[in-house]
Amino acid sequence: SRNSSREAQGIFNPDMQVNMEKTMFSEMNLRNGLNQNEFHLYYQPQVNGLLGELVGFEALIRWQHPERGLIFPGDFIELAESTGLIIPLGEWVIKEAFTQLKRWELIFESHLTISINLSPRHFLHPDLPSYLIKCAQETGVDTEKLVLEITENVALEDFQAVKKRMNELNCLGFEISIDDFGTGYSAFIYLQHFSVQQIKIDQQFISGINEDPKSEAIVRTIIELGNRLGLQLIAEGVETKLQSERLKELGCLDMQGYYFGRPIPVDEINKQLSSVLNN
Ligand code: C2E
Ligand code: CA
Ligand code: CA
Ligand code: CA
Repeated sequence: SRNSSREAQGIFNPDMQVNMEKTMFSEMNLRNGLNQNEFHLYYQPQVNGLLGELVGFEALIRWQHPERGLIFPGDFIELAESTGLIIPLGEWVIKEAFTQLKRWELIFESHLTISINLSPRHFLHPDLPSYLIKCAQETGVDTEKLVLEITENVALEDFQAVKKRMNELNCLGFEISIDDFGTGYSAFIYLQHFSVQQIKIDQQFISGINEDPKSEAIVRTIIELGNRLGLQLIAEGVETKLQSERLKELGCLDMQGYYFGRPIPVDEINKQLSSVLNN
């Protein structure tokens, strides 16, 4: 293994081990994981704070590695992006999300949505629209039920391509959400030129909302901007009751965060859904 060859070369030390652990996955590891079905979607609830109602879920990918245990996306998404494996991985996410939407429709007659995270590279990939439509048709699920989250870091060099792709996806019925809103380079450009339906107010603005007047002012301004542009607003990273109450006062009703529920595997979600939706 890489570890033992480094030891043999005498360049191994404990500090390096920490560094290596982050980058230890290779393209082949990732490819194997995909072939062996080691990836899973965890689901985190999105709720309407006013009614206390569940509106949908964000799907967050996890890698259940046979030796290394549960691996979070921060440890492999970058590698997937740089190797191009993000396309098959992203396609797996799309297919899995549609399949789950179908199951929930059948079991619970639910109108829940699932939001998925699309990498910038996948967002502009030529096959994306046809793949999405194929999955929608195979499952018979409405495209309105799958929300596509992208960050402001989608390459703006290709302005026209981004614009065209957004319109294309909107025409097919998909809603587009700007993730981590306000943390990228070009938040206003997105809103000015592109057709998006939702903005997610980033966690780092939410965390200080009760103590830090600057955070509060920023959140207040994003909410007003969203309202003026007729966009759906959702706050992410809501961890406390106080934060959720302040957000309600400011007019952001949809929320997501540990206060309402952590991302959990689908069978745990199903247990909770059967007690909430079946009575
Ligand atoms: P993100 O889309 O901004 O997702 C939110 C992250 O914050 C998630 O981390 C979630 O578990 C975490 N989180 C949720 N609520 C709270 C809270 O109340 N407090 C705190 N401190 N954290 C909270 P996770 O699951 O580790 O995902 C990290 C990032 O990886 C995501 O950030 C997203 O950019 C990316 N990612 C996740 N799944 C996928 C995927 O299927 N495809 C792609 N391309 N990227 C993904
Ligand atoms: Ca997201
Ligand atoms: Ca986010
Ligand atoms: Ca993020």
